Amino acid sequence: MRIYEKAPAKINLMLDVLRKRPDGFHEVEMIMTMVDLADRLELSELRQGTIIISSQAGYIPLDEKNLAFQAARLVKDRYGVKAGVHIHLDKKIPVAAGLAGGSSDAAATLRGLNRLWNLGIAEAELQRLGAELGSDVPFCVSGGTALATGRGEQLTPIPNPPPCWVVLAKPPINVSTADVYGRLRAGAIEHHPSAAAMQAAIEAGDFRAVCSGLGNVLEDVTLPWHPEVRRIKEAMIRLGAEGVLMSGSGPTVFGLVSRPSKVARIYNGLRGFCKEVYAVRSLS
Ligand code: ATP
Repeated sequence: MRIYEKAPAKINLMLDVLRKRPDGFHEVEMIMTMVDLADRLELSELRQGTIIISSQAGYIPLDEKNLAFQAARLVKDRYGVKAGVHIHLDKKIPVAAGLAGGSSDAAATLRGLNRLWNLGIAEAELQRLGAELGSDVPFCVSGGTALATGRGEQLTPIPNPPPCWVVLAKPPINVSTADVYGRLRAGAIEHHPSAAAMQAAIEAGDFRAVCSGLGNVLEDVTLPWHPEVRRIKEAMIRLGAEGVLMSGSGPTVFGLVSRPSKVARIYNGLRGFCKEVYAVRSLS
């Protein structure tokens, strides 16, 4: 038996860090939503109990470091599944980009194995399993749009923002989320974006208010550290994106665009100096 699952990328419409907790994690407030840029997973059942990961992308681990592998092992162990699985990852989401590619692959693996092995696991339980793999995995299990609190694993679903185009540009650097959090001084953050204001803008379907409410305190670390991220932000604004923000810990920057006529201009302008640019729809 063989099944397919899509694993979309996420963007953060706002990301605030409230404090560093005694357990080393940061207490965050984030509003996340999905965009139509997705990895495609092919899951094929294996009679023997092994887990095999393959991918056309040469730059991700294919062993137990792969989050899809970890998700498969978790389900196998927790539910005593004897069968194995071959997971092929057709990677489209850039890696270490702030778009939760690995987390979304893990979430898609949880959903896919639930179907492949007929386990009947409820969505809330899949989210709990996901939280064992990473803070962004529970959100990726259910997708949509959500307010995430705690270390990012406590989710309150909210409506999707008004549909729009999303132009994404990733400079040719990899940024480790752990390094960015490691450099952040939570007590020294001057401007905290408002989750309440963003939620209100979304609920009102007010695209302009969504754009003006965008904010990510991790920009305070990544922008001075990697000036190319700032250059992309400035170019997106100059080219006419209505709202521009770095996603997650970066380095990908996204621009929200309401009119399709503007998308080609922004895309082509960025392609002039950045190789990895995508123009996709928000998922709603
Ligand atoms: P986040 O926004 O959640 O921090 P990210 O988009 O910055 O995620 P990922 O693409 O998830 O980062 O990759 C982070 C690291 O995880 C990479 O360095 C990669 O080696 C490792 N990794 C493990 N499994 C995967 C996977 N399935 N796809 C991509 N990277 C993976």
